[in-house]
Amino acid sequence: MSKSSDIKMVEAPEGYSGEGFFATKLDTIVGMARANSMWPLPFATSCCGIEFMATMASHYDVARFGSERMSFSPRQADMLLVMGTIAKKMAPILRQVYEQMAEPRWVIAVGACASSGGIFDTYSVLQGIDKVIPVDVYVPGCPPRPEQILDGIMTLQDIVRNESVRRRSSEEYKELLASYNIS
Ligand code: SF4
Repeated sequence: MSKSSDIKMVEAPEGYSGEGFFATKLDTIVGMARANSMWPLPFATSCCGIEFMATMASHYDVARFGSERMSFSPRQADMLLVMGTIAKKMAPILRQVYEQMAEPRWVIAVGACASSGGIFDTYSVLQGIDKVIPVDVYVPGCPPRPEQILDGIMTLQDIVRNESVRRRSSEEYKELLASYNIS
């Protein structure tokens, strides 16, 4: 059984402290808050989704990363987890879900199918979700173990923690979305 002394607090960011004050960059504080409260939208179509259920459950406990609050509404989620084989017929639906998410939003392709089509090198299967939406993190495996999914979430946390608050209005980001024909 865990004790309160086992609970680790998030480390304070770099900054300047003195008698009664602490100063740091806005980017750092926003990044820290975002990274430790990602709200997942699980887009699960097959076996990898079952691994995610294990990741959510008590043994692996995704709540340790501040991500226990699942959202099945795109408008209340910022971390899209795509898990499973995505048929080409389903690609427009996945894209619509992505478009309905508010900025800032991030995407993890969980497992071989979401990342590259996996073993389904066939006419009906999308050969990777990055054909229709931008992806931030790819998790390898068929299926990936819960530890790998957690590793993917932690990798995304690093990205989010270090992302500038201005990135979403940068030319580079607009070009990325334009390359997917998303305005
Ligand atoms: S990567 Fe493997 S385990 Fe995951 S959905 Fe595809 S076939 Fe299933």
